[in-house]
Amino acid sequence: MRFQIPHTLLAQLRAVQSARGYSDDVTVSEDAFLLDPGFGPASYLTADGRVLLDTREWSGEPVREATPDEAVCVIVVGAKKTGIAGLFELLPPRPFGAATCDRCLGNRFWSFGTDAGTGRAKTIVCPTCAGHGWVD
Ligand SMILES: [Zn+2]
Repeated sequence: MRFQIPHTLLAQLRAVQSARGYSDDVTVSEDAFLLDPGFGPASYLTADGRVLLDTREWSGEPVREATPDEAVCVIVVGAKKTGIAGLFELLPPRPFGAATCDRCLGNRFWSFGTDAGTGRAKTIVCPTCAGHGWVD
């Protein structure tokens, strides 16, 4: 899966990454933007539209391209973490006849329980629709 990144979005991604002052071997070698340092794999969107997952610290496996569902998850989380709403526009359009996801009600995120540390609801990308907000 490869996203077509409009020039305006590319400029926003470069500005956010520059403001963070962040770079690593993946951002440099792949011309990529860190979307989520993650509790699991770090995830990136490359300037040419690929989503990469870095699980080297966890599994020792090399950086790999995300599956289509993983890629949607990464974009949804990345939009939240970077504050760049334009990332949502990269996602595949809702197919005709698709139903709004029952679990997240189309919000892409699902909240459950309470985080003992912050007292706030724990929120993750919806496991039912993988962040699409709809099910086909
Ligand atoms: Zn959902």
